[in-house]
Amino acid sequence: MMLQGKSAIVTGSTSGIGLAIARAYAKDGANVMINGFGPADAIERERAGIEKEFGVKALYSGADMSNGAAIAGMVAEAQGAFGAVDILVNNAGIQFVAPIEEFPLEKWDQIIAINMSAAFHAIRAALPGMKARKWGRIINTASAHALVASPFKSAYVTAKHGIAGLTKTVALEAATFGVTANAICPGYVWTPLVEKQIPDTMQARNMTREQVINDVLLHAQPTKQFVTVEEVAGLALFLCSDAAKSITGAILPIDGGWTAE
Ligand code: NAD
Repeated sequence: MMLQGKSAIVTGSTSGIGLAIARAYAKDGANVMINGFGPADAIERERAGIEKEFGVKALYSGADMSNGAAIAGMVAEAQGAFGAVDILVNNAGIQFVAPIEEFPLEKWDQIIAINMSAAFHAIRAALPGMKARKWGRIINTASAHALVASPFKSAYVTAKHGIAGLTKTVALEAATFGVTANAICPGYVWTPLVEKQIPDTMQARNMTREQVINDVLLHAQPTKQFVTVEEVAGLALFLCSDAAKSITGAILPIDGGWTAE
């Protein structure tokens, strides 16, 4: 139980990759604060289930990752309840697919806020405690789109490239304090975020659903397979280990070879 006695916040963890990471940390003994949107009863079932299954404390914060003050409040709440935040995973994210000329202004602002600025706000609030305790792990869920672009995803690609820069900067500022900061860059993982972009991609590219899955999504991945949430959680867990203490400022692809091409 490598993470026994540690506490983690995983943003955007009511679904998909974040949920898998939160569960992996709890399984390894960490107290976790989950966050994100969804039906209240389903979230409460998940929260209570984590406590029961893994014997840790699990809290839920409904903080909106587009609101800096709410993010600072979430970090303060976790610090108060757990005594510390040792691990911060900035994972919440949304997608929107449209040609740049037609890209809705409010979608641009929302994606920059949730996918990029939220990590700044959370790190700003959590890093002082980590530095004081001389131990911390900051993990940002970026994307293959932190390294390469795709058409029709201007806001997402911009935010994810920004996250890569933030990760490297924080790694340097925290390097002598036992705190690492890394970005995980998944390729396509089958989650609601991917499923929801299929109709817009069908429209933007004039394709059928099957064509989008095979010719756009899996086309990008030499393995021709989706990455799984468990694989991403496995990497997020490894980055918390002592064996990973020299990995910092790294932008780590987990993308079936996508960005090798
Ligand atoms: P998902 O839609 O399953 O989960 C997204 C989570 O973020 C949900 O819990 C949702 O409630 C939460 N969220 C959305 N807006 C929020 C807000 N304003 N405040 C708080 N929480 C909010 O998606 P996912 O695929 O698991 O994505 C998680 C992260 O992984 C994102 O940052 C995404 O960009 C990244 N990612 C996903 C893929 C993929 O193929 N699925 C690939 C690379 C990177």
